[in-house]
Amino acid sequence: MSTYLVAFVVGPLEATAPVDVGGIPLRIVHVPGKGHLTAMGLDIGAFALSWFQDYYGIPYPGDKVDLLALPDFAAGAMENLGCITFRESLLLIDPATSTQAEQQNIADVVAHELAHMWFGDLVTMRWWNGIWLNEAFATFMELAACDAYRPEWGRWTLFGLERSAAFETDSLVSTRSVEYEVRSPADCEGMFDVLTYQKGAALLRMLEQYLGAERFRQGVSHYLRRHEYANTATNDLWDAIEETSGQPVRRMMDSWIWQPGYPLVRAGIDGDAVVLHQQRFAFGAADGDADALGGGAAAAWLVPVHVRSGDEELTALLDEHDLRVPVADADAPVVVNAGGHGFFRVAYDDKLRSRLGADVLGGLDTLERYNLVDDAWNEVVAGRLAAADFLTFVVEGFGAERKLAVWQSIVVGLRGLGRLLDDDAYPAFQARVRSLVAPVVADLGDPVDGEDDLRAKLRGLLTATLAIQGDDAAAQARGAQLYARSVDDPGSADPELVAAATSIVAAGGGDDEYARLLAGYRDGTTPQNQLRHLYALAEFDREDLILRTCELAMSGEIKTQNAPFLLRQCIANRRHGATAWRFVRQHWDEANSAFPTNTIVRMIDSVRLLTEEAVAADVQAFFAEHPIHQAAKTLEQVLERQRVNTALRARESARFAAALT
Ligand SMILES: [Zn+2]
Repeated sequence: MSTYLVAFVVGPLEATAPVDVGGIPLRIVHVPGKGHLTAMGLDIGAFALSWFQDYYGIPYPGDKVDLLALPDFAAGAMENLGCITFRESLLLIDPATSTQAEQQNIADVVAHELAHMWFGDLVTMRWWNGIWLNEAFATFMELAACDAYRPEWGRWTLFGLERSAAFETDSLVSTRSVEYEVRSPADCEGMFDVLTYQKGAALLRMLEQYLGAERFRQGVSHYLRRHEYANTATNDLWDAIEETSGQPVRRMMDSWIWQPGYPLVRAGIDGDAVVLHQQRFAFGAADGDADALGGGAAAAWLVPVHVRSGDEELTALLDEHDLRVPVADADAPVVVNAGGHGFFRVAYDDKLRSRLGADVLGGLDTLERYNLVDDAWNEVVAGRLAAADFLTFVVEGFGAERKLAVWQSIVVGLRGLGRLLDDDAYPAFQARVRSLVAPVVADLGDPVDGEDDLRAKLRGLLTATLAIQGDDAAAQARGAQLYARSVDDPGSADPELVAAATSIVAAGGGDDEYARLLAGYRDGTTPQNQLRHLYALAEFDREDLILRTCELAMSGEIKTQNAPFLLRQCIANRRHGATAWRFVRQHWDEANSAFPTNTIVRMIDSVRLLTEEAVAADVQAFFAEHPIHQAAKTLEQVLERQRVNTALRARESARFAAALT
């Protein structure tokens, strides 16, 4: 076993009684007084430990599992064999007062680390260039295990939002290939990003869906058995899966791993065939601008494409730039990327687009509808669709939508639209948000005992959207009431609504509300409740209060594992982000010496949302003088993303404002 997987933990700690998982004792170790927050961690831990042994077909390669909750930890968690360390907020939780997202976080991270016990620990990469596969695979397995643990969450569908974060970075000219040569510690540290975890996991999901889940699983098991207690390179996994599946896995995956970016697949109809064409998708390069992308414009991927035409399901490999897929009924509605798992975007021609009306949309898979919204919003960012047309598309097609994942995608678009507008144009947009969202909130009604977690979460998301983006007085009053009730009688209100209410109170709050939320952070009885209050301190709509939060982040009171993320949230504040940015710039040296090196670029990644010309220029000039050496590539991407957003605002602000009046 590699030395990086060994840990000794010393401190005043207590352990739960062991849970027996087929002969393996599983415990949670924590600081005294937190034993009452361990039940869910033990439950998912026992589930995942047993599930992975079945999936891999290999016994757990150790004789005990301790999960340790550490009060301050720079990373999220670390897969030391049998001695797995976590932030408290990623292991300790009270299920009765926490949201679905908070519970899912725990399930994800516990499953992720346990997946590493085989993939990473039993079989270890030969060198650090392989760290991406280590993390991508553990992320893939975390999602698969979580999907089995709570099928009602539809984990693979909710992954859409995380995959979109990978698309966002991968749509930049400055993106990178998933794998690259690692020569220095900085090269290695740069690999722990959204392209490793989220894009990597999405590529594995695409491969699994193409081969079939069981054939993919057999390949993974074959790989682990062949290389147990040894080291591997990336190709060893592709070769093992190729042997069990008989498919050209290495050639396919090489096209995704060694080329930066991803394809836009254009779809049209010609005679009796759907015709597909691929080109690289990039924000800064409309229609694959050859200058901006250099040689990348001509890139082609080996794309597994699932096509549904009417009731007919077809699978094709788009190998070169173009492919014809004959269909039985040339007049039927067509979905390219059926099932929604492919790592590419789709642009339909007018004829195919017109067949996807509101009546057809309702019959699509949730992830397919998610992708339609996500693709449309990104066409706005790329300059190929007007902001006003995106809003019309959502209003006309999705008023009847009741799936959380699709609304998550819509809300991303709505927040983006809101950031295009000056203060005088904003109220007209808020009225549009109200007319879109209020009927859905009314239809969802009040929480009902035993209801679906995702319905409760949708109610929370849309109540906050209606109150904050929609400036709806009734929703704001409801938020204030709910929050007051949750303080008087914790556990009496629905956790999703309490979480929404915390944001609502902050967004409309003054000094009194600030004092209450700060007290909520200081006196919080669970890590989740504390963090919810802490990050809400960045959501106030008063400049002096945002500055107070910035000061708090630098005061030493906030753990250094959280303070950089609090500053990131302040920079993301819609009206006072530039003020927070100036604060961070003034405290740059102090922040760099106080916070973990891996958090510095994350602290400032929300500068991409600062799109006023002068502020954007200031950010770009500052980082020309102050590079972040341990995250040079990520910084380059953040700065390009800011330029893309600044151009978007310059292009759309007046045009969109005019369309709203
Ligand atoms: Zn990991």
